Amino acid sequence: MTLLETLKYDLLIHGEWRPAKSGDRFDVENPATGECIASMANAGESDVADAVESAQTAFTGGPWSTMTGGDRGRIMWKMADLIEERADELGNLESISNGRPISETSSQMAVVASYFRYFAGFCDKIQGTTIPTSSSHLNYTTRVPLGVVGQLTPWNHPLMIASKKLAPALAAGCTVVLKPSEWAPLTPTEIGVIALEAGLPPGVLNIVNGFGPTSGKALASDSRLGKLDLTGGTETGRTVAKLAGENLTPLQFELGGKAPVIVFDDVNVDDAVNGCAFASFIASGQTCIQGSRAIVQRAIYDEFVEKLSRKVAGIRIGDPTDPQTQMGPVISRPSFDRVLSYVRSSVDEGARIAYGGKKPDGAQFESGYFIEPTVLADVRQSMKVAQEEIFGPVVCVIPFETESEAVEIANDIPYGLGCSIWTRDVARAHRVARDVIAGVIWINDHHRLHPAVPWGGFKDSGYGREGSFEFINEYTASKYVCVRLDPEPVDWYGSSGTGRRLN
Ligand code: NDP
Repeated sequence: MTLLETLKYDLLIHGEWRPAKSGDRFDVENPATGECIASMANAGESDVADAVESAQTAFTGGPWSTMTGGDRGRIMWKMADLIEERADELGNLESISNGRPISETSSQMAVVASYFRYFAGFCDKIQGTTIPTSSSHLNYTTRVPLGVVGQLTPWNHPLMIASKKLAPALAAGCTVVLKPSEWAPLTPTEIGVIALEAGLPPGVLNIVNGFGPTSGKALASDSRLGKLDLTGGTETGRTVAKLAGENLTPLQFELGGKAPVIVFDDVNVDDAVNGCAFASFIASGQTCIQGSRAIVQRAIYDEFVEKLSRKVAGIRIGDPTDPQTQMGPVISRPSFDRVLSYVRSSVDEGARIAYGGKKPDGAQFESGYFIEPTVLADVRQSMKVAQEEIFGPVVCVIPFETESEAVEIANDIPYGLGCSIWTRDVARAHRVARDVIAGVIWINDHHRLHPAVPWGGFKDSGYGREGSFEFINEYTASKYVCVRLDPEPVDWYGSSGTGRRLN
């Protein structure tokens, strides 16, 4: 029987599946039904310490560090093949654990595989430089992997985000301890099954499921990490930064967002409405670059609100494992309560619910955490709902008059991750792209992602970039070697030294 059939997972430490030393386990709930779907070993401090030790042994003494880049790449290609072979099964596991429709989760698996392939290609191409200074010295650099990387990942794209971190780390020659979110740990744990099948040596990938404040904290506090990489909420980022700061562990943070969708009045309104609906409601609005604020030029504002409301009324909400479903529940009871409390606060502050704003009617929605796709009109930038990350199926529609006002509203938040700009005016599109503070900007599109492009934010959205060639700087450090070629010996305190050159 495979691990998958039993839906009971242990910890992956040094190539073996082990229960937690304490014997503790925790349950995973299906957010569409409230049923328990899996039992996970719950890593304690000493399990995490074992996982880090295993990763350190694999880094310093194991075959991973001595293997050729080409051989590392071959294993990563095999992982990509296995992900593709198991795409439907992985998509299903993801749907029952985080509630995203199977149409979204299984099509995302092709992108997951592409991360392993893209970075596999770098394994034998990571190289340094030679630096000309003077004829007396040869200077060169090599790029060395950072060592053991700790990775803390969220539940909204569980396998995708784990893979965005895992693939470049492996390509660089690092070893990894991964702590997936307790809310949707199934597919990030399955990547351990896939890694072993693909031939990844013991200890190169360790997986310690558990809770943020316990196993996550133990990982973030471990002084042996060469780097800690978190995708999660901004508050978690602040907590983790303090823990890792004690050890001066290098950090990479992909944190919260509140992306503006800026719509100018020269667009085809139907196209912009379709783009905004996708931006705002994919994954039930639970993405870091969710189109959370549609900033719409006054001349088309009423038409936009009306058409967007009509569009979202047609979104098919339901069982995430049904291929016809277009939107599932939110992840949990606390998320459900939080999202609806934002809707209530917006109404208290004067916003108007143009569509949605509650649990959908029907017995099939009773035990799950379903919320209607919600369009809030007449939102002002000063409202709480326009400032804070809601992380649910709610879009605030905010009017503007001029281009500079649109940019001002877009930037008037603590976040700076994603933004989309909808206009037919090429020069304006580039001006606004220049002026909006965000790490990822789309023009006449939203939420496009590819392993070859950089991903990351400014301000409270974090620092560091995932994806692209830039990963080489994120997972390796340069090491500089200086070789004296000059045959003449130097004796600074003798006659040949002083008076020539200090350093
Ligand atoms: P969380 O911040 O709650 O959790 C992220 C990870 O950190 C989880 O593995 C979590 O474990 C762990 N964690 C939580 N608390 C601690 C702690 N004190 N010490 C160590 N680890 C901890 O985020 P969510 O999972 O709820 O994901 C949603 C958030 O992620 C949103 O804010 C979203 O914007 C952001 N995000 C950002 C992306 C980006 O690219 N910038 C992409 C996707 C999401 P556990 O779950 O067990 O608590």
